[in-house]
Amino acid sequence: MRLSRVLLLPVLVPALLSGCSSGPDFVAKYEPWRGKEESACIASGVLAHTTFLASRSALGGPSVCGTERPYELSAVLDGQVRLKPTAMLRCPMIPQVERWTRESVAPAARYYFGTDVVEISVAGSYSCRPMNHVSGAKLSEHGYANALDVAGFTFADGRKITIKRGWNGDVTEQAFLRAVHRGACQQFTTVLSPNYDRNHADHFHVDLARRGADGLSRICK
Ligand SMILES: [Zn+2]
Repeated sequence: MRLSRVLLLPVLVPALLSGCSSGPDFVAKYEPWRGKEESACIASGVLAHTTFLASRSALGGPSVCGTERPYELSAVLDGQVRLKPTAMLRCPMIPQVERWTRESVAPAARYYFGTDVVEISVAGSYSCRPMNHVSGAKLSEHGYANALDVAGFTFADGRKITIKRGWNGDVTEQAFLRAVHRGACQQFTTVLSPNYDRNHADHFHVDLARRGADGLSRICK
């Protein structure tokens, strides 16, 4: 685990930086809640018990992209469930990914397939880009390391369930993915599935965007 992190970094960092250096083609405004929420999360000590976590240097730079203290998350549930590839996330996302896996993904795998989930396939995490890659759109929550895209799940028996095939696949796969989707809506403020649009035909998007007067308005689609 440690070795793979060391090897990954030189590849990851230039890729992340180059994402921002091409110049912003998105709309973004300064939102004070982001920094406050992140500082409060770090100060709370909520990450103290998460072992498979590496603190990285600040992302961002010439634009509003990034976050003060990004973390690279390689597994949850004490290493029982890997994230592959590792996800670059801000502090508030991490306990929610952990909770979603513990309270929804793992129980649903046991209930529907009688096995344990061992891997979450990550389709995206930090990325300095406009929403849906549309030039001129609002900066995506991915640009703040406040979002995760999940393409599927691997079980202990080697079976893989993807959103692309399983969402409209056999009855059990459909039921599993819908349970996991419902569970995500308990932990994240935005959850988008193939039900939302064609951009999400092959993954779940989850994030912790704040919207509405109290910042608690939710989207679960
Ligand atoms: Zn996404």
